[in-house]
Amino acid sequence: MTDINDPFALQDPLLLRRQPWVNGQWLTGDGPPLSVTNPATGASLGEVETLTAAAAEHAIDSAEAALPAWKALPARERAARLERWHALILQHSDDLARIMTLEQGKPLAEARGEVLFGATFAKWFAEEARRIYGEIIPPPRRGQRLLVFREAIGVCAAITPWNFPSAMIMRKAAPALAAGCTVVLKPAEATPFSALALAELARRAAIAPGVFNVILGDPPAIGKTFAAHPAIRKISFTGSTRTGRLLLARAAEQVQKITLELGGNAPFIVFEDADLDDAIDGAVTAKFGNAGQICTAVNRIFVHETLFARFTERFAARAAALRVGNGLDPDTDIGPLNNSAALSRITGLVADARANGAKIVTGGQPHKLGGLFFEPTVITQAGPQTRIWREEIFGPLVTIQPFRDDAEALKQANATEYGLASYFYTRDFARLFRIAEGLQFGMVAVNTPIITSESAPFGGTKVSGIGREGSRHGIENYLELKTVWIGGI
Ligand code: ADP
Repeated sequence: MTDINDPFALQDPLLLRRQPWVNGQWLTGDGPPLSVTNPATGASLGEVETLTAAAAEHAIDSAEAALPAWKALPARERAARLERWHALILQHSDDLARIMTLEQGKPLAEARGEVLFGATFAKWFAEEARRIYGEIIPPPRRGQRLLVFREAIGVCAAITPWNFPSAMIMRKAAPALAAGCTVVLKPAEATPFSALALAELARRAAIAPGVFNVILGDPPAIGKTFAAHPAIRKISFTGSTRTGRLLLARAAEQVQKITLELGGNAPFIVFEDADLDDAIDGAVTAKFGNAGQICTAVNRIFVHETLFARFTERFAARAAALRVGNGLDPDTDIGPLNNSAALSRITGLVADARANGAKIVTGGQPHKLGGLFFEPTVITQAGPQTRIWREEIFGPLVTIQPFRDDAEALKQANATEYGLASYFYTRDFARLFRIAEGLQFGMVAVNTPIITSESAPFGGTKVSGIGREGSRHGIENYLELKTVWIGGI
């Protein structure tokens, strides 16, 4: 029977879990419960049980105990379980999308897209699991053989953010499990239900007890527990540069390997030979997806001075026409911001830009719907003195600035401490290479706003992070080389 007070209204209600998943069991929490709120309505979605640091330590112990058997499974058997997980995620994608929209806010179509994108990592790394080849090296001395094994690194800790509550988990868990590692995941406090639903599906996929664990609790305390536990050999984090720095420093304690996917400040350059229609479409997609709450979202648009007026007018009209609303409404283009801290930060960025002489072309206010909704906002005449220029925005705001020549565009685009995503539009192939080579970013998108796929390396330079996820390189994060010398032959 459907409970009319149940906002989740899932086809499979057992996907809604409210307890930590440890060692193949839903645990009773020993920490203070965590309340989860629907950012579109402010209504409570109920509570999730949490663990104290001591209980989190037990979760790590279970992952350690599960490691030898999981690592020893033939790769094709680990792959079979990941394939099954993939199939189950696809089968339940409508429910998973609904859970995500309710706790995160993004429009349902985007949530579904993310669930499917996340699932691709299970499939991709299931395939990669069977291609973890070692090496035989010509030995340097007589009577010897020299081999290299590529082995699972051990127990991995994963910490994930709320902006992609499903895909960021899959991008870490799938390669880790494929490599033969076991995982303790701490997802974001705002979006635990998506993570726990993935755990339920991992259970149904016969991923053995202790192999994939999901815990919630006080983030700094759990972060410290991860850093202090000798079994944790790897930390993989996606989130803010501030927290990334902290985890990097802590990883020094036990010299844990670390992968960091941190903030961005993406430039979007429109050269004078660009296809203007394409560039406008691309900028709308690369800016306003997930209400701008994406580390690869466009922060600063640079448009050649000959196109600046036309681009700005048309782009601002498109921004103003975006429909802001509850993500469950099929007409919604932009959902709410995820939390009130985000709303006050965005409001602060606009106030700072105004105070520094910037011009608000459209938007600039909390949306008339109230709550956590903010108008899609386009700003010009913001210079390097404004916060919006320097900081990661993580909201539906963007600045547009004219430029005169390629050198100036490149210099301004690179003038940031971040180095994650960058975008540009041109039809000149020589410029395409020159600019792609000149941009100091881990990812460069030319004439397209889409830069993610399970098959492509994802990651940043400078303070945007360390390492790459996805692609054939993504599994390396979870493998260690072992050199084996054999004599007496
Ligand atoms: P945001 O500000 O966007 O929430 P954070 O970097 O704070 O970004 O959060 C990303 C993830 O990092 C979340 O799962 C959060 O709980 C976790 N986190 C935040 N602070 C710490 C910390 N001190 N130690 C470990 N994890 C943390």
